[in-house]
Amino acid sequence: LLLGPPPPPLESREIPTPAAAAAPTEEIDRRRNLAIISHPDSGKTTMTEKLLLYGGALQQAGAVRQKAEQRSTQSDFMEMERERGISISSTVMNFDYEGYRLNILDTPGHQDFSEDTYRALAAADNAIMLLDAAKGLEPQTRKLFEVCRLRGLPLFTFCNKMDRPALSPYELMDQIQEEFNLESFPVLWPIGDGDRFKGVLDRMEDVVHLYQKPVKRGGKAEVVLIPFNDTAKLRELINDEELYNKLIEDHELLNELIEPLDMDRVLDGELTPLFFGSAMTNFGVQLFLDKFLDMGTKPTSRDAFTKDTTDGSGNDDDTNIVSPQFQEFTGFVFKTQANLDPKHRDRLAYVRVVSGVYEKGMKVGHSRSKAGKKYNLAQAQALFGSDRSSIDVAYPGDVIGINNPGMFGIGDTLFTGADRVAFPGIPSFSPEKFCYIRSPNPSDYKSFRKGIDQLLQEGAIQALRQRNDDGGGPLMLAAVGELQFEVVQARLKNEYKVEALMEPLGYTLARWADGGWDAVDKADADGKLFGIMIVQDRWARPVLLFRNDWKASSLTEDEKDLQLSPWSQ
Ligand code: GDP
Repeated sequence: LLLGPPPPPLESREIPTPAAAAAPTEEIDRRRNLAIISHPDSGKTTMTEKLLLYGGALQQAGAVRQKAEQRSTQSDFMEMERERGISISSTVMNFDYEGYRLNILDTPGHQDFSEDTYRALAAADNAIMLLDAAKGLEPQTRKLFEVCRLRGLPLFTFCNKMDRPALSPYELMDQIQEEFNLESFPVLWPIGDGDRFKGVLDRMEDVVHLYQKPVKRGGKAEVVLIPFNDTAKLRELINDEELYNKLIEDHELLNELIEPLDMDRVLDGELTPLFFGSAMTNFGVQLFLDKFLDMGTKPTSRDAFTKDTTDGSGNDDDTNIVSPQFQEFTGFVFKTQANLDPKHRDRLAYVRVVSGVYEKGMKVGHSRSKAGKKYNLAQAQALFGSDRSSIDVAYPGDVIGINNPGMFGIGDTLFTGADRVAFPGIPSFSPEKFCYIRSPNPSDYKSFRKGIDQLLQEGAIQALRQRNDDGGGPLMLAAVGELQFEVVQARLKNEYKVEALMEPLGYTLARWADGGWDAVDKADADGKLFGIMIVQDRWARPVLLFRNDWKASSLTEDEKDLQLSPWSQ
């Protein structure tokens, strides 16, 4: 997993937060943003559905389930997603529960869309890692975990499917420790597994939750609470001598072995609170939700660059921390999408609100536009998969969808006030798949170009061309995963009604030559670029395509003047 460039180190100072039009503290405090990461089939759809049910979002939960039954998820609104039952683009779901506002950022499960996941995680404040307790860590959990670690997110681990034969909880803890070098803190501890899954010990309260089978699938499980020290009652209700003895033993062992919970380490992503349950039969989900709301972080401060425009110099770049209480509105785009609703043919930018209050019709500055230029945020939308509703106000932690006339790109900051604010850009992944793409029907060319241009703007794929090509030559696409090409093809067909032919290229890695064209020419003249394809990106910067890692690393070492780097700066 190679991505960059990393945000430059920041020297920070807190931006003063006058009381003016800051977001109300209670609105900030009640918000929790989370993204669920998991290997496909671990139960993310089921878990999301259950969480929505607890939030009383019955209708939405129904939609999740309905689509889940078609092997798809609530957020799978694109044709291809439905066909394949994979979640490609991330969306947002929100609901209220016990006074909290939860924003769930859905992340695509398939590894070819890791970049989209990374962006969703850039907008999340907390991550939940869902494991299938019978399988433990799986390939996709590993990849996504890396992404979480890069973001430094607090990570909560839920071991699902305890109603089926599971690995021992100690084994699961060992896996997390050994593979991720991450300590876990069991908050809940399971009593049995499979048919003998009786419930969980809440180690924070020293109370045992024993579950009765839920009346119907999807209903809330009936729970009996017993203080751990009421051993007679416990023994009677567990009604399984072996499990009872094991519980007593585990309780003692854990208290001896595990240090008290250090929330600072959780918030720094060094320690993961660990939970056990069964999303399908609804065991432990509500308990998990309650604990998560208590332990998870509310919307956090973020580093930003601010350019003080008040002295007119325009070059006075400071680095600051923008706290959610900052009185100006700030937010950043983490995803853009065209044709979310094919009927409307519109383009949306998803904005994560970082500070202040979004109000309908407000005017904002844009980090990449000229100072002083303002855009009208006329009609923001709350998003729920493919459904949306118009909203008048949004607070830090919320995600809003705004109409994107085309200039809002991923990583861009929107802000009110005289001072320019720019959050560090969201790094992109270095592409590893390349193909030629063309339209077989010359008469479709215009629609084909339009479609390609709009899809490129979403930032999921990049376009490359041959050197000195001013637009007439063959178009090459570069992406992280093969499926991304298929999405382009499918979307061109569905949304722009044009066919596209693709021809894969055998290159596996791209390096941008920051040394410029002169350096490339020199290396080429010296015969160093044999077998390497030389192309340009959309800013006409030189890019070299390699067939293998070895060649790329040796050239990076040997030809320092090329200044090869794995991403576009
Ligand atoms: P996703 O691919 O991660 O979204 O997983 P799904 O939520 O679609 O679940 C995959 C399969 O596992 C489905 O057949 C679910 O019914 C099943 N499943 C989910 N959670 C549980 C659970 O807690 N116990 C059991 N036994 N099955 C579960």
